Amino acid sequence: LNSKQKNFVRQWYDAFAHSESRPVLSSECMSALAILIQARPQLVFEYIKTTYPSHTCSNSLDTNESAHPQRTSIFPSKPQGQDDSLETANAHLLPATLHLVQKYITTCRRTRPKTDGRRSVNTGPYRCTFGCGYATKRVFDWRRHEETHEPQELWLCTLCSQQDTDKAFLVNRRDKFVRHVREAHEGWKAETVLGLSKVDYRPRGSLGCTICGEKSGGWDERCRHVLWHFEDEVQRGLRRPNV
Ligand SMILES: [Zn+2]
Ligand SMILES: [Zn+2]
Ligand SMILES: [Zn+2]
Repeated sequence: LNSKQKNFVRQWYDAFAHSESRPVLSSECMSALAILIQARPQLVFEYIKTTYPSHTCSNSLDTNESAHPQRTSIFPSKPQGQDDSLETANAHLLPATLHLVQKYITTCRRTRPKTDGRRSVNTGPYRCTFGCGYATKRVFDWRRHEETHEPQELWLCTLCSQQDTDKAFLVNRRDKFVRHVREAHEGWKAETVLGLSKVDYRPRGSLGCTICGEKSGGWDERCRHVLWHFEDEVQRGLRRPNV
């Protein structure tokens, strides 16, 4: 945040935050404030957290939650059966954002039935490594498909979030997000909203290769490695390029 933005946040905080007993640091509030000063909600939240540690660390923020059920507390209860490492790696996120991200990623990672990825045209040497049965002839489509199981980038619409967290729009594809802005937020430039809505998400660090078990350093490396297997199969004539 620049000094002008920081000034604004401090003034807002001094004027409104102390007198309010309900959780003023709800994600709706953070989003609304962030839009006003054209910054990411995450940055606003972090700035408030470091500037006013006593307020944000107090659990008393939660006490009025029942009186405002539509408001998301900044300390949402943790959904069950989730990956703790995801939470640890993303502890820097706005708690309400983290909550949404966890739900989203858990859904993405859920094992799908064998036939789930099948379409009318389902051939090609590039196969889904998460076992859903998808296959394609195009590397680009393959990688994009892999990322439906293990998202690498996330966008949480700031404009939707300031209205109502129940209608949060969270997606892992840039093109889908741009379409959302065009359809839902007339008058806004897609690029602006993209910038304000990018989640500082830290994806899973290393994933093993499902073919040989090798651990890769990161997602790019893993994808290159798996593609090498597929190319190799074609080379050795195990598969024809179009089957
Ligand atoms: Zn798949
Ligand atoms: Zn939106
Ligand atoms: Zn391998």
